[in-house]
Amino acid sequence: MIQPPALNTVPFISVENMMNLVREVGVERFLTELSEKIAEDFLRWPLFDKTPRVAAHSRDGVIELMPTSDGIAYGFKYVNGHPNNTRDGLQTVTAFGALSDVATGYPVLMTEMTILTALRTAATSALVARHLMPKHVRVMALIGNGAQSEFQALAFKAICGIDEVRLHDIDPSATRRCAANLAGRGLKVISCDSAQEAVMGAGIITTVTADKTNATILTDNMVGEGVHINAVGGDCPGKTELQRDILTRARIFVEYPPQTRIEGEIQQLGADHPVTEFWQVLTGAVPGRTSDAEITLFDSVGFATEDFSALRYVQHLLKDHPHFDHLDLLADPDDPRDLFGMLLRAGVA
Ligand code: NAD
Repeated sequence: MIQPPALNTVPFISVENMMNLVREVGVERFLTELSEKIAEDFLRWPLFDKTPRVAAHSRDGVIELMPTSDGIAYGFKYVNGHPNNTRDGLQTVTAFGALSDVATGYPVLMTEMTILTALRTAATSALVARHLMPKHVRVMALIGNGAQSEFQALAFKAICGIDEVRLHDIDPSATRRCAANLAGRGLKVISCDSAQEAVMGAGIITTVTADKTNATILTDNMVGEGVHINAVGGDCPGKTELQRDILTRARIFVEYPPQTRIEGEIQQLGADHPVTEFWQVLTGAVPGRTSDAEITLFDSVGFATEDFSALRYVQHLLKDHPHFDHLDLLADPDDPRDLFGMLLRAGVA
């Protein structure tokens, strides 16, 4: 049984409190510690209940539920992806989630997960890259400069030692905002007019664009030998970023193949195209990068265990950083079977 809820309420982390928590811990420390939690859970991968996320597709986007459990705790995230939302001043991706005690089924944490998703996605990307990138690489191209982008840049700085990011977005104002937000954080930031220019000299290429289409953010001629590609934006059926020829040249690493085959870049390939599960690189069961010339590709779609790790990490942080409210979420009649009596007595006093 995990920590029971105090006062029959559930700790709730609002957006404001998540910002307090992240600022108090520090973004780079948060990303680094979170990547360690994600790695710990990848190392116990066989323990987890795993299923491709449940997706409700509509014309403009998708709403997804992402559950998992390690047998002691159960976590789930609700997340959407609506690339046109930003036109109306809304986020492309918003999320919230909960952690529960498997022994009682009672929730022990509820939290916003929009900020937490950006952090966990960046922490996962950098964790994977640290195991696959060529050792000498210090320069990353970052194509797509929206909500996820600064988190990606800072995770690669903190976890992979990147010291230069080369930004590109079809919307120059997004690049300007990203560059301004990254100023003074120890990264050399170069703004580029094209994706072609952004990838010049970059040993890591991150694509994190949003468009509900089979886009071609990278063409085959833009990817040289030895590059590590962190492909984050292709995460839905019919929503990809890479030209197919890149996939057939690269060694492809994924989170959970049954989900990635539906949602990832590899939806462009046959169902039997070989992929490597990243958790097996972490355990040492299969090698990561095998030569300086190899092109490695992390076909990121985001998997439930990463959100579970993030939920456990913030739950742990609350002990020293009590930035939460008490949510009145659990009915608590004096006699557990007298739920109706509790309703009758409500307001009588
Ligand atoms: P966002 O809408 O805030 O930003 C996307 C940016 O991409 C925008 O600035 C847009 O102008 C730019 N863009 C679109 N087409 C482009 C092109 N052809 N070339 C260059 N730039 C282009 O979205 P976000 O929250 O930053 O998310 C980005 C993507 O990442 C989304 O597709 C989202 O679904 C995905 N995502 C994946 C994961 C994961 O775990 N893999 C997690 C979170 C988000």
